[in-house]
Amino acid sequence: MTYLEELKEEIREEVPEEVMLTKIEAEGSDLVLYSKNISKLINDETIIKNLAKKFKKRFIPRTDESMLQPPEKAKETIEEIIPKDPGLKSIEFSPSFSRVAIKAEKLGLIIGKNGKTIREITTKTGWKPQLQRTPKEEPQTLKAIRKILIEEEKERKKILKGFGEKIFKEPPEEIDWVRTTSLGANREVGRSCFLLETPESKVMLDAGVKIDGKDSDKYPYLSSINFSLDELDAVIVSHAHLDHSGFVPYLYNYGYEGPVYSTKPTRTLMTLLQKDFIKIAKREAENPPYDEKSIKKQILRSIAKGYGEVTDITPDMRLTLQNAGHILGSSITHLHIGEGAHNLVYTGDLKFGYTEMLNPAHTDFPRIETLIMESTYGGQEDRQQDTRKSKKELVKIIKETTDRNGTVLIPSFGVGRAQAIMLILEENHRKNNFNVPVYVDGMIKEASAIHTAYPEHLKKNVKKRVLHDKSPFESEIFKMVDRDQRDEITDRGKSVILSPSGMMSGGPVIDYFKKLCGDSKNTIVFVGYQAQGTLGRKIEKGNKEVVLEDQNGELTEYKINADVKSISGFSGHADINELLGYYKKINPKPEKVLVVHGEESKTKNFAKSLNYKFNVDTISPRNLESIRLK
Ligand SMILES: [Zn+2]
Repeated sequence: MTYLEELKEEIREEVPEEVMLTKIEAEGSDLVLYSKNISKLINDETIIKNLAKKFKKRFIPRTDESMLQPPEKAKETIEEIIPKDPGLKSIEFSPSFSRVAIKAEKLGLIIGKNGKTIREITTKTGWKPQLQRTPKEEPQTLKAIRKILIEEEKERKKILKGFGEKIFKEPPEEIDWVRTTSLGANREVGRSCFLLETPESKVMLDAGVKIDGKDSDKYPYLSSINFSLDELDAVIVSHAHLDHSGFVPYLYNYGYEGPVYSTKPTRTLMTLLQKDFIKIAKREAENPPYDEKSIKKQILRSIAKGYGEVTDITPDMRLTLQNAGHILGSSITHLHIGEGAHNLVYTGDLKFGYTEMLNPAHTDFPRIETLIMESTYGGQEDRQQDTRKSKKELVKIIKETTDRNGTVLIPSFGVGRAQAIMLILEENHRKNNFNVPVYVDGMIKEASAIHTAYPEHLKKNVKKRVLHDKSPFESEIFKMVDRDQRDEITDRGKSVILSPSGMMSGGPVIDYFKKLCGDSKNTIVFVGYQAQGTLGRKIEKGNKEVVLEDQNGELTEYKINADVKSISGFSGHADINELLGYYKKINPKPEKVLVVHGEESKTKNFAKSLNYKFNVDTISPRNLESIRLK
């Protein structure tokens, strides 16, 4: 008998007869209980609770196929049960999972008090409702993901069962060694990638690309690993930015078949960014390292986890994601290896100060021996301006510019920074009755709609507003712009334009810039870091003219008479003080810190500061270095 079969036997003995258990299946790390008396199983909560406590696994109650109401009949029953106006959009069935996806704008009404309506639906129809919050404008990316998961539900079930068989193997009695190998983002920013190995498991933390990299340093050092990709057990993605997620589909192109773990918003946002990455590469006549097919493969193998949920990902590794405060869905990875043999925390990108949208990074962990920590702003001088002060400054610049009938152009990253700025502008509109229109262009539109779809990941007051159908991202001051409206908007004046890309290396912001830069009544405001060699950096540094292609492809000189401003306080990264503050708060303290994700001088400076202030063993590994942790 296999380990899984034995486990099933033991579980069977603990389930009361009344439940009429028909079978138990492993789906990923979940154990699914099929029952002919689902009402007993979901209404007597102690049954699942006791099993979870005894076996330390997650149990999912599910109706045995033979007891399901036929979909047409079930749909009628559901429509009778749910209240009249929940903004219901669709009801779709997944027979392989005995699940019914209900898309609606107002989920609160469907859930009912303490989930009463949900339980009623399952009791009466057998189907388990899966509620999908859907903003007025359903984000295209989310729609596409949900469609794939429903259409390919049979394939998805097969995949999850396969994962289950690998995870539920006999755990090793002892773990002799644990080691990490740096495959990217060491003494540099970009292409984050770490390999974590034990004699039993191989797990990858992030797989990113270096967006502005040359051919030689664009991708992680995958060629250096001495096993084939089908031996890799799991990939964990900390957050959606391409320097952490942009290389994952490539793995699927080259033999990887395993799961990719992340939060739900990360799964959605990284799909958006990866698709955009392919699009841009094609436009610039470059060969993208993968295509849409690989992204689809990734979606079918993605396993989304909430913060604080504990999940077995291999026979000897247990994963918990916690909030990192950096962008929507960003997480800190905690891995419990062996039964207490080693504990590793990987911060990913981190924010540990006040922001409009997200709570600061999580600091409490059950145990930590090794901490892998980012150091983007780890230099001695890397102090950012206070966010509240920056906010006042931005509002003042907008007021002055629009008072003289000018336009404010804010180049911004599509995901993260743009939404933080939108919250500030919306608050200014709501509290100060400031009625200047804000035109939102490019990917920012879609990314903002995705923020509205995941209120539970937002800070309390923003979350509350989204749940009450007043998403700040859907405020009347935001006008979503299509390509053919751009000329008209720049001619109009007295407005704010928020557009990617953040460093002006491409995107609609270039079109706006060409039209606005010549007039001294306009202002260009940089709200993020401008890397060396980018157009944004040149303008920020005070260049009075730049050469760009005009609409006919001719090189043309553009004079910059517009005002140029920079505000530093909106970063999604911790500055040097926040990094030190984070380490001070982290509990318990690790034995060793690997300092990564920063230019060489910053990484080294931060490692030295940590060592000096807290007397902890620090290392700034180089790419390709392996370090034995146990
Ligand atoms: Zn990031």
